[in-house]
Parts: sequence; structure tokens; C-alpha cells
Amino acid sequence: MLHIGCHLSSSKGFLAMGKEAVRLGADTFQYFTRNPRGSKAKAIDPQDVARYLAFAQEQGFVPVVAHAPYTLNACSAEEKTREFARQTLADDLQRMEYTPGGLYNFHPGSHVGQGAEEGIRLIAQALNEVLTPDMTTTVLLETMAGKGTEVGRSFEELRAILDQVELREKMGVCLDTCHVHDAGYDIVHNLDGVLTEFDRVIGLERLKAIHLNDSMNPAGSRKDRHQKIGEGTIGLDAFAEIINHPALRGLPFVLETPNDSDGYAAEIRLLRSLFRE
Ligand code: FE
Ligand code: FE
Ligand code: ZN
Repeated sequence: MLHIGCHLSSSKGFLAMGKEAVRLGADTFQYFTRNPRGSKAKAIDPQDVARYLAFAQEQGFVPVVAHAPYTLNACSAEEKTREFARQTLADDLQRMEYTPGGLYNFHPGSHVGQGAEEGIRLIAQALNEVLTPDMTTTVLLETMAGKGTEVGRSFEELRAILDQVELREKMGVCLDTCHVHDAGYDIVHNLDGVLTEFDRVIGLERLKAIHLNDSMNPAGSRKDRHQKIGEGTIGLDAFAEIINHPALRGLPFVLETPNDSDGYAAEIRLLRSLFRE
């Protein structure tokens, strides 16, 4: 079974997202916990959540992915920005418990010239403040393309963050195909090698979700511009290998491609047709 979905708008609540996912042929999805560029979070409606949870169980959804806002930077040079990141993470993680056992993905951050090592230290420090032993959510570090001073451009940087987190059992990784490709990992010609490298450095047991995006730019470009599946520099053949790779079996695959809902439905159909049972 291929577990696949796409990014959805959360403006109409959880049940609406669940129904939209089913309409698009998905059995998982991703949503922003709040405005991706702002800080405001809508109040959670417990009745909407209860209806959604029943619906998701009935439909056989696999864990859905919540995505933190892009503005969050846990390794900023400014204490004010780091404090905002910690508050947002803590608040989001509290809200995540309304939908227990979920995945919460965030961009590790940008070290803004302080150096990757200091960035890694600050990110782990923030995580050590917000993770709690009783939470049921798994927090995912997203693999980044390495544009500007982004932390998380290599598996080693993600591993270094994980090494400094005390409640490591609460942590995982989300691999974004556009990002790792743009970071220089050759998933087009050497998917096996890249996944072996991931296993050696981080451990495949930490891999909890995949973002499926084609890329507008060549491998190693450090750009991060998503393209529709099969229309970019990664190409459809590579995606067929990715969704069928034994090491990735059973993981939720989430599309973040530039599409409207019809486009997403078509990509989900296309990828399902390429999946070998
Ligand atoms: Fe992301
Ligand atoms: Fe992504
Ligand atoms: Zn991206």
C-alpha cells in the first residue's frame, strides 16, 4: 500500500482536510499549524477534531504531518527570535496532542553567520526546552537544500542536532526529495547510495516521512524551488524508484508541488499507478 497525500489548507479545520484528502485519493496529508509566515494560530475546535479522528480511523489514514511556520528560526542570532521559536514550538506541540501520535515537521533554521555548529547547538537547546516525556508527537527535522545559512543541508548536521537532544526518542527526520537533491545528494542516479548514507549517518529507523517534490534546479544548486512531479530535474523515473524503494515502504509520502487540488489529485493517481504492490 502506498501512503500518499499532499499539502492542504487548514483554514476550514481538520474534518474538511480529511474529506478533501479522500476526495483527492489521499490517505495522509500535511497542513500548516498556523499561518506559514505569521504567528497566529486558530483555536482548535474539539468537536471538529473528534469528528476528524473518527473519520480518519474509518478511512484508514496513516499519520498526517503538521508543518511548523517558515518564520520559525530556533538558531537565530537574536534572542527575541529564538524565544518566538521556542514559544511557537511549545504551543504547537501542545495543540498537536489533540491529534495524538502525529508527526510535527520543522525547518531546523538558519544560523545567519554564527556557523553551523552554533546553529546546531541552539536548535538542540530549543528542542530540549520544548520536548516533554509524555508527548505522543514525533518531531521531525526536515532535510534542507542548504540555501543561505540553512542548517540541515547534510545528514551529518541533522545527526549532530539529534545527538544533542535529550528526549531523542521523540525525534525523527522528514526527507524532502527536492531539498536533498538540491543539497547535492544524487537521488536520481544513486538512490540506493543516498539511502545507505542516510542509514549510516542518521539511521533509517529515524526516517518518518517523505516530502515528494521535483526540483526546478540542478543537483547541488542549493536553491529549493519545487516543481511538479516529472516536470523537473529529478524526473518521473526517479520518483517511481523512490516510492517503490524497500527502505521507504510504508512511510507517508506528501506532495508539496506547485499544484491546485486537481493537479494534486492527478499526481496522486500517477504515483499510485507507478506503485508496485
Ligand atoms: Fe518544509
Ligand atoms: Fe518539504
Ligand atoms: Zn522546499
